[in-house]
Amino acid sequence: RRQDVTILRLSEALEQSPYPVLITDSAARIQYANPSFCRVSGYAAAEVIGRNPRLLRSGLTPVATYEALWRQLSAGKPWQGEFINRRKNGATYTERTAIYPILDRNGKVSNYVAHKEDVTLQKKAEERILQLSHYDQLTGLLNKAAFDARLIEAVAGAAREHERLSLVWLDLDNFKAVNDSLGHMTGDELLVKLANRLRRILGNEVALGRHSGDAFVAIFRNVEQNQLALLVREALDGLQVPATIDDTQLSISASAGIASYPEDAADAASLAKAAEVAMYRVKQEGRNGLRFYAPDMQEHTSRSLQMSVGLKQAIANGELHLMFQPQLSLVEDRLIGAEALLRWLHPQWGNVPPAVFIPLAEQGGAIAEIGSWVFEQVALQLARWRQAGCGDLVIAVNVSAVQFSQPDFVDETLAIVHRAGVPPQAIEIELTEAVALRHPESVAQKIERLHHEGFRISIDDFGTGYSSLAYLKRLSLDKIKIDQSFVRDVTTDADDQAIVTAIVQMAHGLGLSTIAEGVETEAQAEFLRNKGCDAIQGYWYSRPLDPAGFEALLDCPR
Ligand code: C2E
Ligand code: CA
Ligand code: CA
Repeated sequence: RRQDVTILRLSEALEQSPYPVLITDSAARIQYANPSFCRVSGYAAAEVIGRNPRLLRSGLTPVATYEALWRQLSAGKPWQGEFINRRKNGATYTERTAIYPILDRNGKVSNYVAHKEDVTLQKKAEERILQLSHYDQLTGLLNKAAFDARLIEAVAGAAREHERLSLVWLDLDNFKAVNDSLGHMTGDELLVKLANRLRRILGNEVALGRHSGDAFVAIFRNVEQNQLALLVREALDGLQVPATIDDTQLSISASAGIASYPEDAADAASLAKAAEVAMYRVKQEGRNGLRFYAPDMQEHTSRSLQMSVGLKQAIANGELHLMFQPQLSLVEDRLIGAEALLRWLHPQWGNVPPAVFIPLAEQGGAIAEIGSWVFEQVALQLARWRQAGCGDLVIAVNVSAVQFSQPDFVDETLAIVHRAGVPPQAIEIELTEAVALRHPESVAQKIERLHHEGFRISIDDFGTGYSSLAYLKRLSLDKIKIDQSFVRDVTTDADDQAIVTAIVQMAHGLGLSTIAEGVETEAQAEFLRNKGCDAIQGYWYSRPLDPAGFEALLDCPR
């Protein structure tokens, strides 16, 4: 009969359809499953007949999808959408599905039919494209373009809802030095680790992007300033925890600027600018911290830009000079040398403090030239004092992280002292803990070479970083310089007393000598002497002096 033929054709069509088809009764019990369904889901037809299609659920499809589905179907309308289902073997897959009710002669639902299509591969390709176009390939964070779009959207949203929105601009300190000294592979690995940490600390709801090489940006909606400051502080601390890459411990600090809509800026671009300006302020103030944007920062930034430019001329214009702060041996009770401290006297700005211009010189690339100049001046000065028979002085020279990481630092320094005819033994190189911790392997090698050539090495600002004893033991050091923050209250603060005592004992245990800096009173000097500290430096014994002033303290026969 004609009808039988039609039914046969229909059933063949379903049986041979390349797309999975399910037919259920009105209570959603499966009555029919075609071979494509069985192939895709992994279930045999006998295993699913009589069961609810729910057996495919993975738990990953949003609840809203099912709600929309039943809203449509119970209104007698078809529904289309996507499920994330689970195959019999446990693997999840994405299934595009069209479901429609079949009505009987009385208009009641007798069956539901579902046409499906496994779109897992398509989905993966789409995600990959999305991933490529929106995310930074290295860190997986939003890329600059996607982040900027997000920010514009967020500002528009905040304007509409009368909400506050804050942008955090976080820039790693001296990241360039990692790349320069340990290579890009290591730098990249470090970036990935740090990005993951940021993601973990800031949480998944925060839009987090990588803006450029070592700058990260994050959007916060309706977060109190105080709370935001705490969170950013937490992020900065988290970044500083040493990361292990190829057996090397790397610790890096960061500077963060924060700006908010609407108080600091009226649009996304100015908001980004303000946050970046605030970040630069932190860099100028010695890095590793956070700052909220303030209107006067724009001025200061252009000032520091002028300074960076001016600094490049400072040597040629004769605006730099050195002061020498005497160091007193507590063991022999005599002057043993001095620390050379750089001064910049600018015709308009007057005395610019080194804490301000050294970071600028590092950022602007002037540090190598300035550092060489300092070494040369010290070497020439030492040569004169030695010729005048002023005794065996040792002059300490500060070397910053960026300077130390210059590839030719050792050769350059050696060449300078040789030219001046001064033995390396007369020069002490002051490195901060941060330098020593940042690229442990290459630093250890450089220190070893310098030490081998005869230079003395001391660790400046000791106690303010994270150096472990185990690590310091491996370096060829001569001296530890106890940071002035521990010296300040050493006569009254029990913690500082304990720390200073421990540092002196530890140093002696390692065969290193100790010097305390920032000693301002006789009581502090006495305490240090009693604890066995070898030497002191500070206003109590002497302020930094110009060369003539220092020479007057020496006993120079010629
Ligand atoms: P620093 O190496 O920790 O130098 C000690 C600082 O403490 C100096 O400040 C010094 O003037 C000051 N000071 C000395 N005695 C006392 C004291 O009794 N009490 C107090 N409160 N302070 C005292 P200065 O000269 O402003 O230098 C600041 C920083 O700039 C230095 O810290 C050093 O990190 C950097 N710096 C100075 N000269 C150079 C240089 O030639 N090269 C490099 N790379 N950095 C330099
Ligand atoms: Ca120093
Ligand atoms: Ca110091």
